[in-house]
Amino acid sequence: MSLKGALRFLWTYLKPLGARLLLLVALMTAATGLRLLFPQLLRSLVDQTLAGAPLPALLLPAGLFLAGALLIQVLRITATMLSERIAWGATNALRLDLARHVLGLDIAFHKEHTPGELIERIDGDVTTLAGFFSQFVAQVGTSLLLIWGVLVALFVEGWLPGLVGLGSFALNAAAVLSVSSITVKAWSGIRASSTEMMSFVEERIAGREEVKALGADGYVVRGLVAMSAKHWRLRRRARFLETTASNVTVDAWVLSQFAMLLLAFFLYRAGSLSLGTAMMLFFYADLLNEPVNTIREQMDEMQRARAALGRLVKLKAVTPAITDGAGATLPSGPLSVTLDGVTFQYEEGRPVLRNLSFHLEPGQTLGILGRTGSGKSSLIRLLCRFYDPQEGVVRLGGVDIRQLPLDALRSRIGLISQEVGLFGGTLRENLALFNPAVTDERIWAAVADLGLTEWFSRFEEGLDSSIGPAGGGLSAGEAQLLALVRLSLRDPGLIILDEFTARIDPVTEALLQTAVDRLLAGRTAVIIAHRLTTVERADYILVLEQGSMREWGPRSALIQDSGSHYSQLRSAGRQEVMA
Ligand code: ATP
Ligand code: MG
Repeated sequence: MSLKGALRFLWTYLKPLGARLLLLVALMTAATGLRLLFPQLLRSLVDQTLAGAPLPALLLPAGLFLAGALLIQVLRITATMLSERIAWGATNALRLDLARHVLGLDIAFHKEHTPGELIERIDGDVTTLAGFFSQFVAQVGTSLLLIWGVLVALFVEGWLPGLVGLGSFALNAAAVLSVSSITVKAWSGIRASSTEMMSFVEERIAGREEVKALGADGYVVRGLVAMSAKHWRLRRRARFLETTASNVTVDAWVLSQFAMLLLAFFLYRAGSLSLGTAMMLFFYADLLNEPVNTIREQMDEMQRARAALGRLVKLKAVTPAITDGAGATLPSGPLSVTLDGVTFQYEEGRPVLRNLSFHLEPGQTLGILGRTGSGKSSLIRLLCRFYDPQEGVVRLGGVDIRQLPLDALRSRIGLISQEVGLFGGTLRENLALFNPAVTDERIWAAVADLGLTEWFSRFEEGLDSSIGPAGGGLSAGEAQLLALVRLSLRDPGLIILDEFTARIDPVTEALLQTAVDRLLAGRTAVIIAHRLTTVERADYILVLEQGSMREWGPRSALIQDSGSHYSQLRSAGRQEVMA
């Protein structure tokens, strides 16, 4: 990434904080100015004392010296507070932007990037930037000012001290430059390894039930140990390089101190300097080391920030393939579903759906059957526009869904998949999906509509009953009943149920079937079934085979046609359809 691109990206977030940044620079400049004055005060104090000045005459420089020292501390504390506020102000805006951006990206993107990796981007990398945001300009600016001020003060005393000062600065800078590039590479390796470790941990924790059940704890721990060991080695190396680097710069500093001390000593002995001036020279030389080091640290910080920034800019540049359409609107009420020559593949050369066409009138129910991997769930993903087909058109209510704003489309579709998403919170929050506009009366009315009032009495605290994180404490069937209520509150124009009854006991299933019947009344529905009973209510049946339409027709007609695949399945009396 170019420096210019990086700066432009930073500026977007720093611009609103421009006034604070200026104030910060002003505070730090003032502190630097005071520090430059200190050796001068010291000189007059020493020289006046040696000249036998009376005590009252010494009080003024001494007082100034003290007051200056205090003022510097106050300025520094204020500057630190301010810089933290700038850092968090700017990076929180960036965090928010990135989180929004990532949430808006396609399902395909999220399949490729684990949540752990994204957290590391949005939090880890952004935190790296925070230090840079708050410190860089002010620190580098004041350091340069300090160097310049010291050199000017030294040259004012004479060309010899000036030259020694310049030489010291050059020596320090050379030492710093020679070692700084070494550490940078090591640090970017560390970030990459921590991202890798985060993803690993996140994925294993998410799959902890499988890990436990399959007795894979050992494998997980071994994996983690290997990753931690690698991480540790990288860190150790980076620290070692860093320490070596700082030793080199300390050596340079000691050498330059020594040179100035030597010069001051000889000039004093030759009588061309007062003792106060000699001390002043030494203190100025001492001031030279710190800003060089600060600049080095800031340069390191900048390298780290640049690496982080590069990743963030790259993340920000990912554009969703699925974007809002031109702004067509859907008709109200139940929606018709039309597929017109739809062909779809996730990966080049491996079509998952082949040339599918069918039409479903508003209010009708379609049952989809097919072996595992035949493309049923993929078809549903196209209806929700999680993906776009490579060929053909998907229409809802007669409108090409690519013409619709995504919100407008998805707010009219109610999808329940096998894995119902529940969240830690109350029953009310889970049913209303955290929408406070949904009243308790509406929720209870929806529950009654679906014939679930009695079932709901099991929640002793009613809608205030709490639900554990990720729906902990509920069975898959129970979660689906809740999902039905949730759907009916949204009043969708198209309902999609994926593998709905796959793991449910007979009693719950009976309850579920009634609820589904009531939910589907007067609505269009697409139901994927693994059992024939589930599609008893369907008006049409679609049988998929390796992504192609093997059979399509009104259910009643297919039953009558004894040669049809569907009626053969029925007469075989098999409940588990395609297993
Ligand atoms: P099941 O009955 O097991 O749920 P399904 O009919 O729903 O199966 P799909 O999930 O639609 O099957 O998958 C159809 C094909 O697409 C499968 O061969 C699968 O491997 C492939 N597939 C599914 N998701 C992806 C993906 N994200 N990337 C690549 N291929 C995928
Ligand atoms: Mg599926």
